[in-house]
Amino acid sequence: MAEQIRQSQKMESVGVLAGGIAHDFNNLLTGMMGFVTLAQMKLAEDDDVQPFLEQVMSAAEKAASLTQGLLAFSRKQVNHPEPVNLNQVVENVRKLLSRLVTNKIRMNFELCDATLPVVADSSQIDQLFTNLANNARDAMPEGGTLTISTGSMDITEEWVYEHGFGVIGSYAVITVTDTGVGMDEVTKSHVLEPFFTTKEVGKGSGLGLAIVYGIVKQHDGYLVIDSKPGEGTTFKILLPLIGGIPAGIDVGDQPAAL
Ligand code: ADP
Repeated sequence: MAEQIRQSQKMESVGVLAGGIAHDFNNLLTGMMGFVTLAQMKLAEDDDVQPFLEQVMSAAEKAASLTQGLLAFSRKQVNHPEPVNLNQVVENVRKLLSRLVTNKIRMNFELCDATLPVVADSSQIDQLFTNLANNARDAMPEGGTLTISTGSMDITEEWVYEHGFGVIGSYAVITVTDTGVGMDEVTKSHVLEPFFTTKEVGKGSGLGLAIVYGIVKQHDGYLVIDSKPGEGTTFKILLPLIGGIPAGIDVGDQPAAL
């Protein structure tokens, strides 16, 4: 538990640092992209230099997408929490996710019938699903099944005892399961660290899950990861149901359960 809190504080300070750098870097990139566009316009369309400028532009665009990731990680995004039905949010993200995965991957949506009222920022939940679906796709290069399901559960005294943390109450649950390569214990213990990646250079920034974790924490929720090499991975996200936590309870720090 102490280790998880230390980890969470470490991520907090890396976040502040990364956010500051990302913000300044973003301004530099905007200027750079502006001047490249200007140069492209000044030159004739068939000028020999045009392909070089295109290369510069495409590198700058990649850098901009990395800084966006950093900004999202440092939680400098605007946060608009509002009461929503979580099932509706998942329903709305269905199309976006189908476009992310390859056609070798079968997608299953198993949404429960009940309404799941939670306070959430829909665009952050979209981001959370995007990051998890991207990882699921990368974990299933030969294809497989990605299942997204919703439901609800109570955090009980036994649950708190088993996991070492948690506030007793009722939660909406999102489960994202893939049948991909899975993770060994060592990998699993590092996945929430910013910049930790096992992907080849240029493919992974190591920020995806750190962002997911940040979003879950911002929603006073919990993240539980279950994974076995060769068998696949399940991410379970618990978000407090509106009225599900007895009044006056301080939710405190929200570590992840790995
Ligand atoms: P990135 O995707 O850029 O590497 P993430 O923070 O999203 O960064 O993920 C960190 C690492 O966690 C990945 O490089 C991979 O090793 C592991 N990982 C994440 N999701 C999965 C998954 N669904 N299956 C197997 N490994 C995963």
